[in-house]
Amino acid sequence: MSLPKAVYEELEKVVGSRNISDKEYVLAGNRAQTPEIPVRHRSADAIVLPGSTEEVAEIVRICRRHGVRYVGTVSGGIPTAYATEENTILIHFKRMNRILEINEKDRYAVVEPGVRHVQLYPEVRKRGLSYTAAAVGPGGSVLVNIACTGGDHHNQYGSSRPTRYLLGVEMVTPEGEILRTGSLEAGAGWFCPESAGPSLRGIVKGYSGNAGHIGIVTKCAIALDRCKGPAATRTEGVSPHSRIYMDDECSRVYVFNYSSIQDVGRAMLALGESEVGATVQKYFYLPLSLMMTSSANEFWEKWDGFRKAFPMPLVVHLAPHSVREREYEEKILFDVVRETGGVRLPRELERWWEEHMDYFMIVSRLQSVLRLGGSWLPIKTGGESVRHLCDIGDSIREFIHDFTDTGKIFDAPQNYQIIPMEYGHFASFELLFMWDRTDPNSFRYMQEFCAASRETDLKHHAHSMTAGGYGRAGEALGRLYCDCHLWAGRIRHSFDPDFDPDA
Ligand SMILES: Cc1cc2nc3c(=O)[nH]c(=O)nc-3n(C[C@H](O)[C@H](O)[C@H](O)COP(=O)(O)OP(=O)(O)OC[C@H]3O[C@@H](n4cnc5c(N)ncnc54)[C@H](O)[C@@H]3O)c2cc1C
Repeated sequence: MSLPKAVYEELEKVVGSRNISDKEYVLAGNRAQTPEIPVRHRSADAIVLPGSTEEVAEIVRICRRHGVRYVGTVSGGIPTAYATEENTILIHFKRMNRILEINEKDRYAVVEPGVRHVQLYPEVRKRGLSYTAAAVGPGGSVLVNIACTGGDHHNQYGSSRPTRYLLGVEMVTPEGEILRTGSLEAGAGWFCPESAGPSLRGIVKGYSGNAGHIGIVTKCAIALDRCKGPAATRTEGVSPHSRIYMDDECSRVYVFNYSSIQDVGRAMLALGESEVGATVQKYFYLPLSLMMTSSANEFWEKWDGFRKAFPMPLVVHLAPHSVREREYEEKILFDVVRETGGVRLPRELERWWEEHMDYFMIVSRLQSVLRLGGSWLPIKTGGESVRHLCDIGDSIREFIHDFTDTGKIFDAPQNYQIIPMEYGHFASFELLFMWDRTDPNSFRYMQEFCAASRETDLKHHAHSMTAGGYGRAGEALGRLYCDCHLWAGRIRHSFDPDFDPDA
């Protein structure tokens, strides 16, 4: 179904004829099929490119008046960034891509939704500052990562989740009202999420954002940290075969392999107690092997060796302020590793990591994890204590071998990551699995795998998943989280009266 002509013309009046289209060749480029979903996405009925908050508000009001659905999008990295139902338009933020302010003194940046990491990160890094850039890659939207989706990143150990870094927010509610939060509403600027103005940070973002359900975020401020380690890097070669050097005595990467996740957890907590390291993470060995090879053929040649060499790699980046401090951190690190049974990997493997750290962690290389061409899905993307998440890591073996040993999913049973945050006060989890999407049964296997994972969590009362969904759809998990499916539904309804929380 295409958009009624009258509605199209109303939208056109708002954004101008150059910034709206319902042409098939334009829509076709914006319904990319994501590999984990075997069905072809239907097309949006039109795509609009607003240039300001006021235009977004006007578009939302028109949609509401005519019962048209809308979906906000920037890079379209996840399925919810596409039209999935009839009578839907895409609101693309590529024109709203301005960095509005970088405040070095109070350490925050104000951005529009279309600003990507590749725009903002070099700008703040030049100033000796840094921020929690999600590992989605340079093309991901800064605002979306920080205000609307998960935003987990690999430097959380020495900093925190993006949730903590969201400051003032400007957003358009489903009724078309422009809302400003925190210090912004009180006329005091962007610097603080709490003030005389309403602090809605927990509602706008919560743990993993609400992907636009309670409003379209049109501007936000994010907190900046002082950059740990060198501000400048030296690069060689052309991406994806480039190398990045941090020529600095105050930057070192060490990688250790473990045979027990409980020992990894003990190491994380001991390092956190001493506040040693800028980054500490138990990384996934399958993406790491994919990133360390330059083609699918090379991957298959090396995978067997890699999976034996580092099934449970613990990556540590030290970024102290002086050589003396580095030597002190190294001493503690090696003591902790010895006491917890870690084995240091050969220097060439550590060096590979060291030479690819563009955002203080590997970010721009990440897309090569998709190189095998199958499907993939991250599950269990919640947060809890380090110990609880290590127990969840252990519990994966209760169900995963039914799938890996039978070829239903890729045979990589240890392929999960745990990233401690705030020096181990809590941590995030992610179980990433891949499968062959040319197998006609693969979608069913994927669903069975997700169900087995959920059942194991429910059996152990384990909190590895982010509770999502409203009403009955969110009930199974919501019960584990204080009935949050009911509360989330009520909150959404208060922002969007057209939404039925009991449906
Ligand atoms: C290889 C790969 C690795 C990834 N790694 C990570 C990772 O490490 N950490 C992580 O957090 N995510 C990761 N992701 C998931 C996801 O792609 C990102 O969270 C997402 O990229 C965020 O930015 P975007 O520009 O891609 O947003 P989009 O994908 O365009 O949108 C994401 C969601 O936000 C909504 N949205 C868009 N704009 C707005 C707005 N202005 N207001 C309200 N809602 C809006 C969309 O409707 C959609 O639901 C990864 C994805 C891929 C493909």
